[in-house]
Amino acid sequence: MARLVMKFGGTSVADIDRIRNVARHVKREVDAGHEVAVVVSAMSGVTNQLVAWCEAALSERRLFDAREYDAVLATGEDVTAGLLAITLQDMDVNARSWQGWQLPILTSNAHASARILDVNGAELIRRFTERKEVAVIAGFQGLHKETGRITTLGRGGSDTSAVAVAAAIHADRCDIYTDVDGVYTTDPRVVPRARRLDRIAFEEMLELASLGAKVLQVRSVELGMVHNVRIFVRSSFDPPESIDPHRNPPGTLICDEDEIMEKQTVTGIAFSRDEAQISIREVQDKPGVAAAIFGPLAEANINVDMIVQNVTSDGKTTDLTFTVPATDYQRALDVITRAKDAIGYRRLDSATDVAKISVIGIGMRSHAGVAAQAFRALAERTVNIRAITTSEIKFSLLIDAAFTELAVRTLHSLYGLDKATA
Ligand code: ADP
Ligand code: ASP
Ligand code: MG
Repeated sequence: MARLVMKFGGTSVADIDRIRNVARHVKREVDAGHEVAVVVSAMSGVTNQLVAWCEAALSERRLFDAREYDAVLATGEDVTAGLLAITLQDMDVNARSWQGWQLPILTSNAHASARILDVNGAELIRRFTERKEVAVIAGFQGLHKETGRITTLGRGGSDTSAVAVAAAIHADRCDIYTDVDGVYTTDPRVVPRARRLDRIAFEEMLELASLGAKVLQVRSVELGMVHNVRIFVRSSFDPPESIDPHRNPPGTLICDEDEIMEKQTVTGIAFSRDEAQISIREVQDKPGVAAAIFGPLAEANINVDMIVQNVTSDGKTTDLTFTVPATDYQRALDVITRAKDAIGYRRLDSATDVAKISVIGIGMRSHAGVAAQAFRALAERTVNIRAITTSEIKFSLLIDAAFTELAVRTLHSLYGLDKATA
């Protein structure tokens, strides 16, 4: 007998038929004698609709009261949790739904991107033992204890709820059921030749997730790494009764680096179109300039990612290029314009039609020249590189958004990631 967390994302619970399909997956594990806590997302499209309603309720460009935004957004998951509990009961599986505040799942006060601080799993464990009851938990939400308000964890946050619950109840496994059957070398919807990985190291998954692969929320991977949770990414569309509940599931295991036998130099490629580039032209090249630019951006809570600085031939002025999340683009421009006198520059150029392509692999620690191969391959396809950053296990390139797919496919083949064709 094992204790499992089973998490189902939005597409997997998109309508009542799919919720019934999910219930069959749950029933299979319960019938095999496992103790099960299920974590669910809102039905596909519901969270987007709730966001749109919040936006429509505001006049002009005013900001949300984040507490109310969370009060609205958390309801999506409440509906799915109740519906799945009803469906399970209908199949004679003993089940009870739980909203975040009822366990409780305690979080920080950062509404719309709260961090989980503590999950009380005691009542769930008592009910596993005494009543053989399945817990159906609303993902994505929690409670800030001091204010007593409902919080949400940021988009994609149900993954994090699932891993946190798994850690709290000491689950043997946390299965993330989604609309793909594992983690691929890159988004399989964009590159049909992407290959499914049997295993991927926590560190690599962290990079993939934070650089654009949406299959797992970054914080869920961080939590899994800290608490040593065995996370499997697998498909909810596999026929529920065709799976043997006593074996390791088909899918991708996120694990420690030393559990991976076959180490490749490059494991995966991520990409993100949610970037914007800002170039500050002819800045006085003197001490304190970087502080004058990045200080106000940091104070405005804007995350700067790539930074490139060029010195002109006369050595007096410099051009400075950096990227920010597209959502912060307008605010970043405002901040830099306001600080113009303190910085001292001639003009600003900017672009939002850019994309960041990132190549990731722990093997890069011991292999030189991996990035150089990419520069050559992209040059051959006349893809211009606007900015580059590197770190121990990854490098990222900023390019024109129009070339995203071409660049990802080119690099995917270059590093031998394409699946063999029959
Ligand atoms: P859910 O609703 O189940 O949480 P998401 O839409 O959040 O699912 O995440 C699954 C999606 O992530 C897939 O449909 C796929 O298009 C995308 N994706 C991006 N990169 C990858 C990758 N490297 N491997 C697998 N899926 C990926
Ligand atoms: N429903 C939330 C979202 O769409 C959380 C999740 O699905 O993980 O972002
Ligand atoms: Mg998701």
